[in-house]
Amino acid sequence: MPDLASYAVSDGSSRGRMLAEPRPKVRSEFQRDRDRIVHSTAFRRLEYKTQVFVNHEGDLFRTRLTHSIEVAQIARTVARALELNDDLAEAIALAHDLGHTPFGHAGQDALNECMQRHGGFEHNLQSLRIVDRLEERYGAFDGLNLMFETREGILKHCSPARARELGDLGRRFIDGQRPSLEAQICNLADEIAYNNHDVDDGLRSGVLSLEQLQDVSLFARHAAEVSAEFPSIAGRRRVHETIRRMIDAQVTDLLAESVRRIAAAAPSTLEDVRRAPELIGFSVAMTEENRALKGFLREHLYRHYEVLRMTAKARRVIHDLFGAFVADPRLLPPQYQAMAATETIERTTADYIAGMTDRYSMREHRRLFAVSEF
Ligand code: MG
Repeated sequence: MPDLASYAVSDGSSRGRMLAEPRPKVRSEFQRDRDRIVHSTAFRRLEYKTQVFVNHEGDLFRTRLTHSIEVAQIARTVARALELNDDLAEAIALAHDLGHTPFGHAGQDALNECMQRHGGFEHNLQSLRIVDRLEERYGAFDGLNLMFETREGILKHCSPARARELGDLGRRFIDGQRPSLEAQICNLADEIAYNNHDVDDGLRSGVLSLEQLQDVSLFARHAAEVSAEFPSIAGRRRVHETIRRMIDAQVTDLLAESVRRIAAAAPSTLEDVRRAPELIGFSVAMTEENRALKGFLREHLYRHYEVLRMTAKARRVIHDLFGAFVADPRLLPPQYQAMAATETIERTTADYIAGMTDRYSMREHRRLFAVSEF
């Protein structure tokens, strides 16, 4: 491993695992976390979960899995350039969406509505619940028994009430402290990945047009550069060359601004990082361009009628499934009926539904509601 900055997370500076384990023989502790995540059941399910476009709408759209890999790739690059722990950044990135429901944000909103009087549903907390409790892979413990800093990075947001239930892991939300720089990197790598791939998928689907995107300065600026440099290329190649440059510009800006903030705050330990303001971030100008791009995507992609139709249908599927299982828990598969013995029926049902892939949830819906199918 290349030299790490003194304020990076390392095996030595880590707060370790909830349950002590012997140190790995050839890997670092955070490589081991990354490997545990890759081998988990929840990770493989990401392949069949919607990012924006429903999985079966086309073979080339992003899924939660390819999104997570793109986030990991950006996060590793930034972490390594800043002499931070890129194994930790990769582990957090690959795990950050494990708790996502089927059908993307529509699914999460619907499940949260169902859980309103039962503690709510939040995909960040669900990701943590999966790695802490729900994965069944080890003889000695539930979950994956990950390092503190990996779990801290997965828990991006948290209400103060919930934070108090989480002990050490929740303390930073109460004390107003920051997570590691590796975790801060993952938040922004997530943003860079989805803003850019949603433009790409939006164009590919025909929901967005190149003319519309002329209103977005980050896109228009790089598209003009591409036209000047390659006047004769067309179609997909022009789009990809433009998006490639947008990602590069965002990563370059993020690195320069973060180097500047780190130099100004001059942390020497991980504890200094926790007490400092956010040290990973975009410049003021790039923050503004990103805000404009996000606003554009919200208006023209996420609220497009074809996307909203999918959203409405997803909502119906989740509400129907939740209602059916809570009304009659005997309809749950036996392993979930067993889990309901130590949890509320609502929480168990939420765990079951959140774990479903898009197509599995539709199949369950048909099995329970279609009179022609059993
Ligand atoms: Mg994400």
